[in-house]
Amino acid sequence: MADEPKERKTLDDRAKMTELERIRHSAAHVLATAILRLWPDAQFAAGPPVENGFYYDVELSHRIAPEDFAAIEAEMKKEVKANNPFEKVVVAREQALKDANEGRLAALNSRGTPSKFKLDIVQNIPEGEPISYFKNGDFLDLCAGPHVMRTGNIGAFKLTHVASAYYKGDERNPQLQRIYGTAFKNKKELEEFFTMIEEAKRRDHRKIGTEMGLFALDTEYVGPGLPLWLPKGTAIVEELEKLAKETEFAAGYVRVKTPHIAKEKMYLTSGHLPVLYAESMFPPMTLMDETAKKRNEELQNLMVETMDEISIGDQNRDEREKLEKKFRDLRKEIETIGERYYLKAMNCPHHHRIFAAEPRSYRDLPLRLAEYGTCYRYEQSGELFGLMRVRSLNMNDAHIYCTPEQFAAEFNAVNEMYLKYFKIFGIEKYVMRFSTHDPSRLTGDNAKFVNEPELWKQTEDLVRKVLIDSKIPYVEVPNEAAFYGPKIDVQVWSVIGREFTLATNQVDFAVPAKFGLKYRDRDNSEKTPLCIHRAPLGTHERFIGFLIEHYAGNFPLWLAPEQVRVLTLGEDEKLIAYAKSIVDELRGNFVRCEPDFRNDPIKAKIAEAEQAKVHTMLVIGGRDMDAGAVSVRLHGKGNIGAKPKAEVVAEILQSIKERRAN
Ligand SMILES: [Zn+2]
Ligand SMILES: [Zn+2]
Repeated sequence: MADEPKERKTLDDRAKMTELERIRHSAAHVLATAILRLWPDAQFAAGPPVENGFYYDVELSHRIAPEDFAAIEAEMKKEVKANNPFEKVVVAREQALKDANEGRLAALNSRGTPSKFKLDIVQNIPEGEPISYFKNGDFLDLCAGPHVMRTGNIGAFKLTHVASAYYKGDERNPQLQRIYGTAFKNKKELEEFFTMIEEAKRRDHRKIGTEMGLFALDTEYVGPGLPLWLPKGTAIVEELEKLAKETEFAAGYVRVKTPHIAKEKMYLTSGHLPVLYAESMFPPMTLMDETAKKRNEELQNLMVETMDEISIGDQNRDEREKLEKKFRDLRKEIETIGERYYLKAMNCPHHHRIFAAEPRSYRDLPLRLAEYGTCYRYEQSGELFGLMRVRSLNMNDAHIYCTPEQFAAEFNAVNEMYLKYFKIFGIEKYVMRFSTHDPSRLTGDNAKFVNEPELWKQTEDLVRKVLIDSKIPYVEVPNEAAFYGPKIDVQVWSVIGREFTLATNQVDFAVPAKFGLKYRDRDNSEKTPLCIHRAPLGTHERFIGFLIEHYAGNFPLWLAPEQVRVLTLGEDEKLIAYAKSIVDELRGNFVRCEPDFRNDPIKAKIAEAEQAKVHTMLVIGGRDMDAGAVSVRLHGKGNIGAKPKAEVVAEILQSIKERRAN
């Protein structure tokens, strides 16, 4: 779970806590209150709100199990019912140290033994930062807040699970029990949340993906995080690519193809190496010709000899330093032998080289280069999760190179494309998170953004205007832009109300310059283009993972891995021939259609097709054949009756062509 807060919250962050976060954090205080009533010697560490609730870390000899939750929740209820106010007390550092030593912090009374974690936290509060307590009833905790006014404001809560966690996430520290819970404004919202969680479990993309035969993860032979698309999953992949290609073609994009690897120089130029992105890339492959191999061997041997000499240790200081320097120089030289190649972690640099491959003039702009590019990212194995976190990803990528004058129209067109896709997939709730720069961090030691104040202002104003004019819901988040320009993360909600971050749009006014990209303008001067990075359908992996949950595997006809199955009722030769002609006609029109002509009971054949989530079943008996008809059955909807064959075929083709939602 990625809910570990990355760093200590600043007072600014705290002030921004939402009402729901306040409720949840306040519930953590109430949880500690309850645990202390049951186990007075419990020692508490941190208790923050997290994505879907809150937790409190506790050290306790009793191992808290879900069987204990009822008793803890009963004590929590009493505290909520008491409706105690959360009273803030500001104290001097000496007082805080004294109380921590007496065991009065995160406690109901002075316990004699120090509140050891709180003591450590007090000692680490920066000099000059105010120290405060919050008190509800007898429970006194070291905390900067904020909370709700009274314990009674915690509308509804529930404990969910226990995990273990090291104090401050460091395995050299004591292991604590992390008690998780969630809280909401009222009981209705709490219940809706658990209904959604249950539904999400039922729609788990790993479960449905396996049942439907969409993808496989073969960690033994292929490797973790490297999904294999099975034929049925590939059908979805190709439909999405077709959609993207048609949409992008209509919007004036051109398609390109690039290799999966590139020389180190590429990523040194883009700035991804040596440091910025190195951890997320697979280690390099070094290619050596015969001469290089020989030199490499010589150097390796020299290194071993030098190492041996150093370890004998009979030199004086000067001699020793000389040897150490020799060793370092040898190592440095080894690093320069051969050519290092990296698997690409992003497509942008390759596209930049395509831009650079030919002389460009303002007449060529905007140039929109599109590719469903495969990228490889070295995610930590603990972070891998089904299709959602993977190491190989197929990205709906494109880079738009344009002049500053063209930027607003291009950016708007990208947003329009998003809206078009949302409509096709029935995504009704979405928001764009617009991340901007912080003008105080353009220069100096804590510089975080490329120092182009004018370009920042221009592009941010333009992006904001486009968002406002297009009436797309958005939130603005200062200080979270990419180093090279403002960024938009697109968040969408699946039908069951779960949030996904699917795609990003970024404006880049720094990297094209690093690659020396130029176009000749009207006045014959050379200029650097702006670049828009965009990937509305994100990656196949994440997007299909999302779609599986969104549709619960019941894909609309155009996306369904098996669109139509023709089932025969009986084994009459003429009937089979008629059924086969329908299969042939549909397949001739690129409909993914399968025959089921086995002489099994029709009920069993239908049940099997329903189980496989086949979108449309055409059931054919003697009477249908005589009338030139077919009986249509839709997955999950049942029988919709017999219709003339030609009409049914035409309707199927039309529904696919229009990419209808059902
Ligand atoms: Zn608090
Ligand atoms: Zn890019």
